Amino acid sequence: MRLKDRVAIVTGAAQGIGKAIATAYVNEGARVVIGDINADLAAQTASELAKDGSEVRSIRVDVADATGGQELVAYTMREFGRVDILVNNAGIGANKRALECSLEEWERVIRINLTGAFLCSQAAGRQMVKQGYGKIINICSLSGQRGGIGRAPYGAAKAGLELLTKVMAVELAEEGINVNDIVPGPIMTDVGRAMHDRATVEAYEFLVPQRRYGVPDEIANAAVFLASAESDYVNGHSLNVDGGFQAAGLMYPLPGSSDTGREKQ
Ligand code: NAP
Repeated sequence: MRLKDRVAIVTGAAQGIGKAIATAYVNEGARVVIGDINADLAAQTASELAKDGSEVRSIRVDVADATGGQELVAYTMREFGRVDILVNNAGIGANKRALECSLEEWERVIRINLTGAFLCSQAAGRQMVKQGYGKIINICSLSGQRGGIGRAPYGAAKAGLELLTKVMAVELAEEGINVNDIVPGPIMTDVGRAMHDRATVEAYEFLVPQRRYGVPDEIANAAVFLASAESDYVNGHSLNVDGGFQAAGLMYPLPGSSDTGREKQ
């Protein structure tokens, strides 16, 4: 029960990685608010998690709205009276080459993935300062650390979020607030399962040194650590949970080659 009596907000937690984080937090004793744009699914997830008597609430929120973060925090204060943990998980993917990306698409992706996290952090951070305690965790992406075709707005948003992590960690350190982020590699969610064709799956399984996708629970484990007292001296850190993908360069054997990268006997 590493999060006993803590109050956590997880955005985009109706499904996928956010749902796994919310589930892990409930299992560790936290009271959880799910803030998601999909109100029905968020309510369904909340009642699923509350089955054993745990305190879980849900609210429809669009983190891209100017007042979305404030509404989310105000709701949490009404329901639970404090905010100890904020996980900025809500996000959308995008696959557009830079020269083909319209201003509208660019702004939408930046608005949800980066501005949304900023606004939620601002609203929760103000409450955390009053409490003298808080943990903010941003869910970033490997696309924000490495170049990749079709990742201009998404990669820029996630890279921006990593830098926001560092800035807010430094600004809020003296207030008893830790700000860190998690950088997932390819994670197999229901949405991912539906969107990734066989060739894409095989490509990722080749490129990731551990030769597999991660699962949402592996991100949730990192999110529990960063929300718990175990990480009290971890601040401004980006924790890659990616099977070694960020560290990797050339992966052997190269397609079509018999060269394994090992010395010939
Ligand atoms: P997901 O399954 O699509 O779940 C995201 C949830 O966020 C959905 O319920 C979605 O609702 C909601 N959402 C979207 N826009 C929102 C908004 N403006 N306000 C509030 N909620 C919103 O995504 P996921 O794969 O679990 O990804 C979660 C996070 O991890 C994202 O930030 C993503 O960028 C990051 N990530 C994922 C992977 C991966 O391989 N899955 C890898 C690296 C990073 P709708 O479905 O109705 O839009």
